[in-house]
Amino acid sequence: MRRVRTSPDDIALPRRKTRLRHDPLLEDFANQLLKSVGCRKLQVRVFWNPGLRTTAGLAVWSDRMVVLNPKLLEVSSAEVQRTLRHELAHLLAKHRVGRHRIEAHGEEWHQACADLGIPNEARCHELPFKRRRITRKFFYACPECSTILARVKILRRKAACIKCCRKHNGGTYVERFRFRPIERPETVAA
Ligand SMILES: [Zn+2]
Ligand SMILES: [Zn+2]
Repeated sequence: MRRVRTSPDDIALPRRKTRLRHDPLLEDFANQLLKSVGCRKLQVRVFWNPGLRTTAGLAVWSDRMVVLNPKLLEVSSAEVQRTLRHELAHLLAKHRVGRHRIEAHGEEWHQACADLGIPNEARCHELPFKRRRITRKFFYACPECSTILARVKILRRKAACIKCCRKHNGGTYVERFRFRPIERPETVAA
């Protein structure tokens, strides 16, 4: 979920599902995007909810659904894309781990973000008119494909690049593709 941190009720799901407006075009785009990263089994639905206040977007795993705040349209199409991918990454990460439990904005989600084209996405961030960024201080890179992992906290357990492990080892951990600490890359703004 991307949201503005104000009051706790911002975390709540849309109150009335009847306000949801289906977006078949964006939905088609989202499903194509999933296919393009090799995920053919996950089918998602995409909706707008004008009832959302400061929440930019939500991912609802039980319904395989992404819900977006129409205020994003007033910001920019880039912001719509970014929120769509942020929420899609939640669904992709859950889909990939199957029944395992994962942190909402953990490594699996970061990897899904990278695969979906937003490698430096902050774990929870706000509608741009009320921007407050999370500072990430720890950076890691895949020695094979140079995918960058940005973290608020230091990485304590072994984590390898999922993309490379999949490509070269059927998705199983390989030490060779383990993320290595690097200096802050110049391209990372936050
Ligand atoms: Zn999120
Ligand atoms: Zn890699």
